[in-house]
Amino acid sequence: MCGIVGYIGKNQAAPIVLDGLSKLEYRGYDSAGVALCVNDEIRVVKAQGRLAVLAEKLNGMPPMASHCGIGHTRWATHGAPSDVNSHPHCAARVSLVHNGIIENYAQLKEHLMKRGYEFCSETDTEVLVKLLDHNYHGEPLDAILRTLEQVRGSYGLAILFKDFPGQIFSVRKESPLIVGYGAGENFLASDIP
Ligand code: GLU
Repeated sequence: MCGIVGYIGKNQAAPIVLDGLSKLEYRGYDSAGVALCVNDEIRVVKAQGRLAVLAEKLNGMPPMASHCGIGHTRWATHGAPSDVNSHPHCAARVSLVHNGIIENYAQLKEHLMKRGYEFCSETDTEVLVKLLDHNYHGEPLDAILRTLEQVRGSYGLAILFKDFPGQIFSVRKESPLIVGYGAGENFLASDIP
């Protein structure tokens, strides 16, 4: 269980994502993080501890103008609470947040390591992002479908592709995820609050 929030629209993403996460913090609170599309880069900031620790870290950084972002509050299932195990997890071209459990992560990790991927966390989630990167050949939806065919488990995912700034890709199986369509802005959340 965890909190996921996504925002895309006319307003600044970071404050909206943080505010959304604060309303979902009851779902997980051992660490938190955000990924923001800033120009053609994805910037990731994450920290172990309550959301306030992340907010303080962001406040201490130069402001990041972004109209598209995803965020996460974690309730660890695989890997201790730590900065490095916090979400978002990243590969060269993809960043994502995950709610759920990838049951066959150990086999997938071995498969990816044989193909040169390096892992820095103990999470099941990192396997998803590296597998997406491996399956990505310019078409996000193809990469997502191919990846999910290989994965066993539960997931609510919010995904950013570096090549597609300003778009959030999302998919769920057994984990909750809600899309809110607005006027000139859209939202994603793992619960109604
Ligand atoms: N299984 C993932 C992890 O341990 C996601 C946990 C969650 O849903 O917060 O990092």
